[in-house]
Amino acid sequence: MRNVTLSGEQRLQQKDLMRQGALPKEIMDSAQQIVDAVREGKDAAVRDFCLKFDGACPKSFRVPDEVVKGALDMVDPDFLESLKRAYRQIRDFHEREREQSWFTTREDGTILGVKVTPVPSVAVYVPGGRAQYPSTVLMDTVPAKVAGVPRVIMVTPPQRDGSLSAYTLAAAAVAGVDEVYAVGGAQAIGAVAYGTESIPKVAKIVGPGNAYVAAAKRYVSGDVGIDMVAGPSEVCVLADATAVPAVVAADLMAQAEHDPLATCYLVTDAPSLAEEVEAAIDILAGQSPREKITRASLEHGLVVSTDSLDAAIDAVNLIAPEHLELHCAQAFDLLGRIQNAGAIFVGPWSSEPLGDYVAGPNHTLPTGGTAVFSNPLGVYDFQKRSSVISYTPQGLAADGPAVQALAQAEGLWAHALSVGMRRKLLEEKTERF
Ligand code: NAD
Repeated sequence: MRNVTLSGEQRLQQKDLMRQGALPKEIMDSAQQIVDAVREGKDAAVRDFCLKFDGACPKSFRVPDEVVKGALDMVDPDFLESLKRAYRQIRDFHEREREQSWFTTREDGTILGVKVTPVPSVAVYVPGGRAQYPSTVLMDTVPAKVAGVPRVIMVTPPQRDGSLSAYTLAAAAVAGVDEVYAVGGAQAIGAVAYGTESIPKVAKIVGPGNAYVAAAKRYVSGDVGIDMVAGPSEVCVLADATAVPAVVAADLMAQAEHDPLATCYLVTDAPSLAEEVEAAIDILAGQSPREKITRASLEHGLVVSTDSLDAAIDAVNLIAPEHLELHCAQAFDLLGRIQNAGAIFVGPWSSEPLGDYVAGPNHTLPTGGTAVFSNPLGVYDFQKRSSVISYTPQGLAADGPAVQALAQAEGLWAHALSVGMRRKLLEEKTERF
């Protein structure tokens, strides 16, 4: 890991961070070509890309409902129990996020408010490529279902034999996905953004994926809604002298093993902790079946050593990590000073993988410093708000003159007319309204 040592008034700088850059141009170009070809050629184009990139293409993209439900009998009972436990806890948490419509009535009888409506249809992209992600199925489907989205479809790449993983399908059955399609990559994003003969167009696309999927989502965004363009995952551990070095090492490695591009930060005001953690990593990484990925990722990780907790907290807020772990005495007392983080794991027992799978909060989180201005995926991402405005004659009489004055100042004649005409009708006491 790289090292930055700060003393006294010194503070971490943006230039000390090695943010992963934007999506490479050749990947953006390639994803655009795939999406454009699918928009034009529909199912036939999807089929071509499927064969080219996945090496197999099922006869029909839609996976029959019996096959999805049948997966529940094919998976290990312990896995299924764990999946159901995760589902219950994710659902309980997200139920609390649901927004309700609200209305307020002014003294003159005018009603103002917000009408909340679910997004009409959603596609959940579930990566397939090199691994299986049943936890992603739950995390992206449950908030949509809690929001009341009537049609939630799932798209995921087929395996080499054209089938889908039983683990992914079992998760779709538990989460209540309405339709499953065996299609992945940029071609899946093009298909659900614009529709094909057999794959429906949706209003919003959510879920993680590789760079081609991310580039395709960015390209179609605007024609359909998207959740976010997620970058490689990150963890930041803020640790004081009470932290256990081997536990901190395991937590950094839990993120590093995702991807060589994943970024790990250790921020500490304890003089010898960083060295002890690095020594523990050296031993533990040698035992990991994912040693190569883990070491590649940790190589560009960053250790920030400070001589005060204030400087350490400033560094955390600058990093704005996707995941933050507080391995500190009285960790909860620090919460108020943390401004930027996707998810905050407070205290030494709150291992980040608990949040990946079962705790309940969403594991789709802002990366690359975007926690400064954005949120975890939530029920609110699947709910739209419409303002509601219903005036009474008394309300119009009270507000009308102000509207006319403002409209005149802006030179908007018909705006003033729209209100002025109603005021005139009121003055004439017409029965028209
Ligand atoms: P994927 O489903 O994202 O991508 C596989 C698809 O990529 C293939 O079906 C193919 O169509 C397309 N593809 C492959 N090579 C291509 C090429 N040369 N040109 C055009 N298209 C090509 O699966 P993956 O590749 O395993 O990537 C999964 C990603 O999702 C990983 O980066 C993983 O870290 C990430 N992930 C993130 C989260 C999260 O919550 N943040 C969760 C799970 C997975």
